[in-house]
Amino acid sequence: MDNTTNNGDIEKKSLNFIENIIEEDIRNNKNDGRVHTRFPPEPNGYLHIGHAKSICLNFGLAKKYNGLCNLRFDDTNPAKEEVEYVDSIKEDVHWLGFDWEDREHFASDYFERLYEFAVTLIKKGNAFVCDHTNEEIANYRGTPTVAGKESLFINRTVEENLDLFERMRKGEFKDGEKVLRARIDMSSPNMHMRDPVIYRIRHVDHHRTGNKWCIYPMYDFTHCLSDSIEGITHSVCTLEFEVHRPLYDWFIEKLGLHHPQQIEFARLNINYTVMSKRRLLELVEQKYVLGWDDPRMPTICGLRRRGYTPESIRNFAEKVGVAKRENIIDLSLLEFCIREDLNKKTQRFMGVFNPLKLVITNCPDDFEDNLEAVNNPEDLSMGTRNVTFTKEIFIENDDFMENPPKKYFRLSPGNEVRLRYAYIVRCTDVIKDDKGRVVEVHCTYDPETRGGNTPDGRKVQGTIHWVSGKYAIEAEARLYDRLFVKENPDDKEEGQDYKANLNPHSLITQKCIVENNLKNITHGTKFQFERIGYFCVDKDSNKEKLVFNRTVTLKDSWSKIEKK
Ligand code: ATP
Ligand code: MG
Repeated sequence: MDNTTNNGDIEKKSLNFIENIIEEDIRNNKNDGRVHTRFPPEPNGYLHIGHAKSICLNFGLAKKYNGLCNLRFDDTNPAKEEVEYVDSIKEDVHWLGFDWEDREHFASDYFERLYEFAVTLIKKGNAFVCDHTNEEIANYRGTPTVAGKESLFINRTVEENLDLFERMRKGEFKDGEKVLRARIDMSSPNMHMRDPVIYRIRHVDHHRTGNKWCIYPMYDFTHCLSDSIEGITHSVCTLEFEVHRPLYDWFIEKLGLHHPQQIEFARLNINYTVMSKRRLLELVEQKYVLGWDDPRMPTICGLRRRGYTPESIRNFAEKVGVAKRENIIDLSLLEFCIREDLNKKTQRFMGVFNPLKLVITNCPDDFEDNLEAVNNPEDLSMGTRNVTFTKEIFIENDDFMENPPKKYFRLSPGNEVRLRYAYIVRCTDVIKDDKGRVVEVHCTYDPETRGGNTPDGRKVQGTIHWVSGKYAIEAEARLYDRLFVKENPDDKEEGQDYKANLNPHSLITQKCIVENNLKNITHGTKFQFERIGYFCVDKDSNKEKLVFNRTVTLKDSWSKIEKK
């Protein structure tokens, strides 16, 4: 079932278990061979990477089998839903590259029909109005091993139930005074079948229906019937809904409606993060992060701001595959997918994060040389740019060592190193401050080695990046790390909660100096800082201040550089 191998490669694709079911249905001409799926979010939060998995799956199946996929908002909970969430969900689905065309639906559009379905159930003796409080209902429910007790109101006549249900709708009762319940089986081993509530009274305005209704259908009633109304053929959902399936089947059978086939798959879990909307909301509201689109969040808007591409997320969803059993995916697989995508697509620049001044002593003070730098060695069609070499430049502090170990191929006294796209330089002198720290290195450059060439064939192993002291510009880099220090944020001490495992160093803000070709770079642009990582321009960036997000570190580096 799982197409992923340990190193993240996709093997020659066999069908996953959902595709097997669909192909079987097509062979049997079930639903006249139609395939119609949907993505059904509750608009009560921003979408996360788990939802992205579900979106890719549902829209992907529709595409593969020439079918359709709806976007439907299961908006049955007026108190927790907001237009802001609806808008963000639409933006995210579009951004991921999927289109529902004119099939944008809201369960709330079906409230009238759902009401009629409830009336039908009452007329058939399959539903009744119950006056028990929530607490009484809970007490009567029993436990999985002990049968529940029937409601004291179960034997109301159809006429009485119809009358009370209509008066519930008219607003004659207060919140919680009455509910409508399905009449199924209080001794069923499946708790969901023990006469579940299907309508409750809530005198609350709804984001779409305003004050038209004061009774609202429960999620379980609404979800399956909305699928049926829309003619969905395959209701793909996550495993926790498996135990709800008998209830969904019961509603559909009692009402004699079109029967979508529900198929459950394992939800996506990723280590070092949390994915429930309740927790994500808590992190936002309690300001552990800076918002839903904080680049550390696993939300789609967070990943977008961090610099992830839709392609990388779709590719990730594909590699993860569809499983029938719960599993946890390594965050590094997601990072692999974005690296792979950005490596091909992004232009490279040079930037120095921990600057050390380097002075070329054998050139005039006003020496300037415009050198040609390759924009992307992986794709030469991306062309070249100019970088200006000057007498004073900056290199990374790490790229110089006064007393280097063997096989240190970067700069050290008396040794040579190649400056990327520029010249080979030899370190002749070291300047220290009164504490003995190296603050400046002096070098001579070899004019014969322009562009990094060695006409005499001598070997220079190390190549390091640099920026011009005269032309480089300052920027702020935001370096992100995993949001939690533990693989499983729930792995915690007694008395603590998952927030105790938040990573205090998940965001480090650092000044850097970068080549001036980045001066007019626009918001959202993605690029690579050579040898450092992939970055993108943050929305906080402006003419006065450049702000870059680190999307992901570089795993690989130029082969000749000896890593510490
Ligand atoms: P959460 O558990 O994060 O609060 P939810 O399941 O309540 O999310 P919905 O808006 O109901 O959120 O989800 C819409 C769809 O996305 C559902 O079909 C649900 O099964 C699916 N989905 C939610 N989380 C995941 C996940 N981690 N992996 C795959 N699919 C998911
Ligand atoms: Mg849900």
